[in-house]
Amino acid sequence: MTDVAIGVDVGGTKALALIVARDGRVLGELQAPTPHAHDDGAGTATAKVLTELINELCARHALDSHEVPVGVGLPGLMRRDGRLAFAPNLRTASGADLGTLLGESLSSSIVFCENDANCAALAEHEWGAGRGIDDFVMVTLGTGIGGGVVADGKLVRGRSGFAGEIGHMVVVARGVACPCGGHGCWERYASGGGLHRLTREAAIEGRLPTLVAQSGSAASVRAEDVTAAAAHGLDEAVMLLKEVGWWLALGLANLAAILDCGHFVIGGGLSSASDLVLPSAREYLADLVEGYSARPAITITSSMFGPRSGAMGAGLVAFERNT
Ligand SMILES: [Zn+2]
Repeated sequence: MTDVAIGVDVGGTKALALIVARDGRVLGELQAPTPHAHDDGAGTATAKVLTELINELCARHALDSHEVPVGVGLPGLMRRDGRLAFAPNLRTASGADLGTLLGESLSSSIVFCENDANCAALAEHEWGAGRGIDDFVMVTLGTGIGGGVVADGKLVRGRSGFAGEIGHMVVVARGVACPCGGHGCWERYASGGGLHRLTREAAIEGRLPTLVAQSGSAASVRAEDVTAAAAHGLDEAVMLLKEVGWWLALGLANLAAILDCGHFVIGGGLSSASDLVLPSAREYLADLVEGYSARPAITITSSMFGPRSGAMGAGLVAFERNT
């Protein structure tokens, strides 16, 4: 049995690679920017970046990249055969067979691909905030929103492996355009990308006067400015993060109504703002979910591994499939 695996989480902006031990310890880490331009649509540039990342990480830790199992978490619709069928937030690799490309470039037969949020759910279920919990939903707030649904102790995969695309649940009919081609998807309101959009909107509408004065113009206020100012108690910034909390609660209420899950684990890049967003989401959930007082308590917690859970779970996928 292998002692370590490589887990890679390919996000909209960067790819994170970890060396993961079977008990969940992280023994090494390296990251690289995700390529967006100059790809040929077949994922060749993405595969090249990932190959270099994995080889470099292995070299630094005296591992042989031909022999270490590799798991790769990718954003979008992952077919059961490992092909990335559709990836609105990673368009250059949409349709690519990255598992095969990486297997060829690493000269390895032990490369496995999985949806990134499913990876995060598996890591949290095995080692983290979902440990011992049979019914929970992993919600990753990054460029978009990813989801991994665990029901009766098992990951729900669906007919084609596409289950858990919760970020594209429509929360506003004919709402804001989404990279997936739809309108009003949840991730346009409650993700890191959603916060960016809401920030711009609020700045233009005059709801962020202090931040606009500080940065010189409405167009130059960034989501990070809102998060930082809210941490220092600036009212207008706190109000905007409360708004994000409401949008988050709206989607969670829909999921609770459908799945009767008692627990949500929130991870991803926006989880750094979770101290400010999650309390308001908890508050709003009580009003938004059907029969809140008749249900056992619904809990919303931060992921234990933050932005690392996807890569850790990809490592777990590598362990489990390399048998
Ligand atoms: Zn969408």
